[in-house]
Amino acid sequence: MSRLKVGLPRKREPGFARGVHGADPPFDGEALSFAVFLEQEIRTGRGPFSFGEREPLREIAAHLEGILRLGLPGRTVSVLKGAQVGMTTLAVCLALYCAAVRRLNVGYFLPDQDFADRFDSTRIRPLVRSSKLAKAMRDGRWKGASPKGLLEFPAPGGSCFLYVLGLRDIGNAISLPLDVLIRDEVDDLPPENLKWSEDRLDASRLALTVNLAVGRAPGAGIHAMYLRGDRRRWLVPCPGCGKEWALEEEWPGILGEEEGGPLLACPGCGAALPRGAGRWAPEAPEALGEGEGGRSYRLSQLAVPAVGLERVAAKWRAARFPGERAKFRCSSLALPDAGEMQPLTRELLLRLRDEAPCFLEEAPA
Ligand SMILES: [Zn+2]
Repeated sequence: MSRLKVGLPRKREPGFARGVHGADPPFDGEALSFAVFLEQEIRTGRGPFSFGEREPLREIAAHLEGILRLGLPGRTVSVLKGAQVGMTTLAVCLALYCAAVRRLNVGYFLPDQDFADRFDSTRIRPLVRSSKLAKAMRDGRWKGASPKGLLEFPAPGGSCFLYVLGLRDIGNAISLPLDVLIRDEVDDLPPENLKWSEDRLDASRLALTVNLAVGRAPGAGIHAMYLRGDRRRWLVPCPGCGKEWALEEEWPGILGEEEGGPLLACPGCGAALPRGAGRWAPEAPEALGEGEGGRSYRLSQLAVPAVGLERVAAKWRAARFPGERAKFRCSSLALPDAGEMQPLTRELLLRLRDEAPCFLEEAPA
């Protein structure tokens, strides 16, 4: 790690932020909840932020809010998700809330710097609905850091920052102290850089980590984080027979049809299941102890009515080959499946050596 450049904030004159903005920071001293912040300050492509059609996100947001409100130290929240479920939007909103309202230093880590550089203009700025939030932040400067993806939230007592960084090449990442670490698409981040990102929290009293990704490798990456946590599944009760179902586990048997359109039908009695009207239930509540994996959620597209079932069903029908079906299971069902991308294991190499007349040797230890 010695090759990392170490930087400290540039010295500010007292009252610097006041001088630039001519006033106290917009959210100074406010006890604004995350839910109200989402409602008042955030705009999505379809108007003000709302949990409608994305009901499972409500508890995740409430849990994160609770950690911040109570200042619970060292917590981890991991979300193994399907594509387009709205979790990245929620994570970006959390980053803005933590920096603007809670006055925390936040790192939002993405796989590569190109992605990170675009993220600010494509994912963060368009979410800013209120002029109040826009006023609270500006392009940031930190000695030794690329100004790209660095947002500063000035205040008389000192600025706090939101860094959006690519984590594949951390050569550009200075030694930044963080309170909140958000890692998006963790399956694409090199494991040694994940560890580096964790060290950024060492000096923080809060040290909150949020991981989110579409999982691709069973037992690795975000799936491993999910397994280490308390493994929350979205259970939907059947209005007919009362049995609760984890929708993605019943795929494809759960897919039914009604008046020409697809629906999710109870595997027990056939009644139509209301996708969004469920509850989160942990499979491993004991994992919440200190030093354990924390909260973990598995959020498939089936639990999010905002993702049309017609689209999901069409993608399933189009996926004919095992590799395509594996991809579907990862991105729609949030059930990681390596498909044809199974990693080379020692067992496989040994089998190849035994069964084929070739010369494979294990590297000396
Ligand atoms: Zn039923």
